[in-house]
Amino acid sequence: MPEMATNQLTRQLLRRLPQRIVQLLRELGRSADEKGIGLYLVGGVVRDLLLNRRNWDVDLTVEGDGISFARQVTNRYGAGLALFERFSTARLVFPDGLKVDIASTRRESYADPAALPDVMTGSVEEDLFRRDFTINAMAIQLNLAHWGALRDPFGGREDLKDKTLRVLHGRSFVDDPTRIFRAIRFAERFGFRIEPDTARLLARASRTNLVARLSGPRLANEIFALMKEEHPDAAIRRLRRLRLLRFLHPRISPGIQTERLLAVLPQTIGAWERRWAELSLDRPLLWVMALLAHTSAPVIAGTIQRLQLSATESRALEWAGEKTSRIAKILSSDAFLRPSQIYRLLSRLPNEAVALVLAKGLVSSSKAVGIARLKRRLTRFLECDRLTTTTISGDTLKEFGLRPGPHFKKILDRLLDERLDGRITAAAEERDRARTLAKQYS
Ligand code: ATP
Repeated sequence: MPEMATNQLTRQLLRRLPQRIVQLLRELGRSADEKGIGLYLVGGVVRDLLLNRRNWDVDLTVEGDGISFARQVTNRYGAGLALFERFSTARLVFPDGLKVDIASTRRESYADPAALPDVMTGSVEEDLFRRDFTINAMAIQLNLAHWGALRDPFGGREDLKDKTLRVLHGRSFVDDPTRIFRAIRFAERFGFRIEPDTARLLARASRTNLVARLSGPRLANEIFALMKEEHPDAAIRRLRRLRLLRFLHPRISPGIQTERLLAVLPQTIGAWERRWAELSLDRPLLWVMALLAHTSAPVIAGTIQRLQLSATESRALEWAGEKTSRIAKILSSDAFLRPSQIYRLLSRLPNEAVALVLAKGLVSSSKAVGIARLKRRLTRFLECDRLTTTTISGDTLKEFGLRPGPHFKKILDRLLDERLDGRITAAAEERDRARTLAKQYS
C-alpha cells in the first residue's frame, strides 16, 4: 500500500481511541513540535489499533529526552509522575486516572545473554529494532505535521495481515529469552503462526539453558502473563512440547490426568465466578496450581523457590498437590460427613485451593453421584458454613474464670463445630455449653 494511503488509514485508526486520549495525544504532539522533538505512539497499542482490538495502554516514545518531556507535560497538566531512570522511562498519571508511559527512543546492546541490556539513546528506527516481534515494532508519529504517519521498518503490518509472528533478527531469543514466552503468548492470543525461521530459533533457544539464567521474578512474570491469557491450557501444552517446564522444575511433566484437569478448569472457573463472584479467584495462580496438581510436595516447593513467589502465592501453591486431591476424594465419597468435618477440611484453604478441589473432583470422580455430592458439600460450605461464627469469644471464657491458653481455641472450635452440626442453635444455649466446657478445663 502506498505510504499516503497507509498514513490515512492509521490516522483513521487513531480516531478509534477514546476521544479523551486522541485529544491528549494531539496536545502532546503540539508540545513535542514546540520542543522540536519527535513523538510516537509505540508497541502493543499500535498493533492492537491495526488489529481493531481494544487497548488503551498509551505507550509513547520521544526521539530525544523522554524524561524532560515527561516533566514538562506533568507541570502543564498537574499529572503525577513516576520516573524509572535506569530505563529512561516515566509514567504519568493524569488527574482523571489516565496513565501514559513515556520513554526515550533508545538502542540496546546485550553484553550478556539473558541479562538486562545496556541502554543508549537512538533513533526511532533503532528503538523499534530492539523490540521483540515485527508486529510490536511499529510506531505512529504524533507530531502534528506528520500526525498518524506509520513507521513500520520491519513489515509488521504485513505480518499482522498474514497472522505471523516473526523476530527481527537471529539473536533475539538469545538476547532476551523472555521473548520465548512472549512468542507463545502472542501466538496463542491472536491465533498467529510462528514464522518457520522464528520457530526454529525459538526451538533452538528452548533447548539451551538460557531460560535458566532468568531471575525468579522475571520468569514468574512470564509464566503468570501466559496464565492470564484466555486459553492458558493451549499455552501450557506448548510449554510442555518445547520442554520449557523444566525451567520451573526438572520433574514437572504433566500427564493425562493433568491434561484432563486443565481441560475442565475454564468451566470450573466460569461456574465459580458466576456463582460465587464475591469470593475472588486469582485465576493465573489457579492455573499454575493446576499445572502442578499431580506433582509431589518437593516439586511444588522447588517451583516456589525457583520463581521466588510471594507468601500468598506460596501458601496457595502448597495446596496444589496431594492435599487437595485427598479432600476432593473425601468430599465425593459416600462416607457420612458432618458439616463440621467438611468445615475443618476446607476452612484453611485459599479460594483457589477450594476451586481446585472442585476441578479435581470433576475429573477424578467416575460417578455422577460423586460429583453431585462434592458440589452439594462445597456449595453448603461456601454459601453458609464458611460464614458461621460462634457468638461467644475468648472474653466470655475469661468471664467464666478461665485463664487464657491453648484450651481457649479448643473450646471455641468445639462450640463452632456444634453450631455447624446444628447441636447448638441459640446464643443462650451456646453460653451454657461454653460454661460447661470451661468447667472441664478449669
Ligand atoms: P500486552 O497486550 O500483552 O500488554 P504489549 O505488546 O503491550 O502486549 P508490553 O509487555 O506492555 O506488551 O510491552 C510493550 C512493548 O514493548 C511491546 O509491544 C514491545 O514492542 C516492547 N517489548 C516488551 N517486552 C519486550 C521484550 N522482552 N523484548 C523486546 N521488546 C519488548
